[in-house]
Amino acid sequence: MSLLDTVPAATVLAPCTLATTQFAATASPPAAPLATPLHDARSQLSAAIGVLGYSAGLHALLATPRRELTVAVPLRRDDGSTCLFTGYRVQHNLSRGPAKGGLRYSPNVTLDEVRALAMWMTWKCALLDVPYGGAKGGVAIDPLLFSQAELERVTRRYTSEILPIIGPEKDIPAPDMGTDERTMAWIMDTYSVNVGYTVPGIVTGKPISLGGSHGRASATSRGVTHIALAALTHRGIRVHGATAAVQGFGKVGHDAAVFLTAAGVRVVAVSDQYGAVYNAQGLDVERLGAHVAATGRVVGFDGAEPLAGDLLLELDVDLLVPAAVEGVLHAGNAARVTARVIVEGANGPTSPAADLIFAANGQLVVPDILANAGGVIVSYFEWVQGNQAYWWNAAEVEQKLAERMLAAWRQVVDYAAARDLSLRAAATVLAVERVAEAHLLRGLYP
Ligand code: NAD
Repeated sequence: MSLLDTVPAATVLAPCTLATTQFAATASPPAAPLATPLHDARSQLSAAIGVLGYSAGLHALLATPRRELTVAVPLRRDDGSTCLFTGYRVQHNLSRGPAKGGLRYSPNVTLDEVRALAMWMTWKCALLDVPYGGAKGGVAIDPLLFSQAELERVTRRYTSEILPIIGPEKDIPAPDMGTDERTMAWIMDTYSVNVGYTVPGIVTGKPISLGGSHGRASATSRGVTHIALAALTHRGIRVHGATAAVQGFGKVGHDAAVFLTAAGVRVVAVSDQYGAVYNAQGLDVERLGAHVAATGRVVGFDGAEPLAGDLLLELDVDLLVPAAVEGVLHAGNAARVTARVIVEGANGPTSPAADLIFAANGQLVVPDILANAGGVIVSYFEWVQGNQAYWWNAAEVEQKLAERMLAAWRQVVDYAAARDLSLRAAATVLAVERVAEAHLLRGLYP
């Protein structure tokens, strides 16, 4: 009799039906029915194809993921019971190099969401001219409901299931929502054990002691800050004393709030999935960070007053940084959003309908594929350092990051001005053109 025979079959195959962590009623505004991330990503691509005048065949090729893998991820829980999750890895495009993209743990992960995030990674890598295609991975799990040991087992099993399609020359995962450098260490170890030797280049966003890069953990937020300061200045808004609201207080939102504050911006509100806090004088972000480290949420911070999560998006501020999830700025709320400048720390926070409203109201939106590209730039630096086994110091990384972010900003602003495009349209057109060029130069096999 096998061990599994002692466990009822229904238990072995049951999906995990635990309640997910509760979102504050106001923290997650429902998006309009069509405003799914994949719909948004495809609309943005269609608009770029319209500008570029590409054929329907090339459009279809660019709109369709090159490879998708759906895997079952069984977990033996700490209490001995067994349950099942679904995981995905989507490689959207491989024309410019190996696929690159984060791994997300969230109960809301779906194949369509991963497809959209993979497509945005393709454009981001092309726009920033890092030699990668785009990919994304996800497991439909709420990481807050599981122990570290359980998350380690989920990560190792997911990694072994997607092993055939990942590798330092094939597809290189990195952290995204719900995952971190610990997760990357488990992936690196699982991959290395399977191939029989240590392969640091299989992931980026690793702990520094395992070959991670200085500056990777804060790179996305540093990049967001470089772009936000440039965008404020571009709009004639004085950085010192400008006001900002940041949605999401995770890896991207927290450090963005810290760096913006250091630059003289007054961060008056931040939120997480449970709610938001507001202080008109500016939040003490360091102390708020300590409160979140102790309690797990921003609400209850004694240096601010509570605020409904939705209202954060509608505050009268100079700068809004959505740094949480997709689809939060949509046709239903865009007209009430009054921020002069919106810098997308998150992927896909703004629907195409909201983009039109912001354009009509003269608000500047800096798109995700430019604004949050700092993470993939330093991931690229980490991969280069790992492949050469030669490490750069923090100052070198930060300087190279700033140079690349600001060069891309200049390029997108100039391109947009020359062709009378929005920054999103300009960035997407530039990126799609580079990917299409790679396709055309390589030719179609066979
Ligand atoms: P994270 O898991 O570290 O943090 C997410 C934060 O968002 C948490 O504070 C969570 O409570 C909050 N949140 C979730 N739903 C919310 C809601 N409805 N309203 C308000 N807050 C909410 O994730 P992260 O790595 O900071 O990623 C955030 C976003 O940035 C994602 O869109 C991700 O794809 C994007 N991004 C991340 C990186 C990176 O390097 N981590 C790079 C580029 C883009």
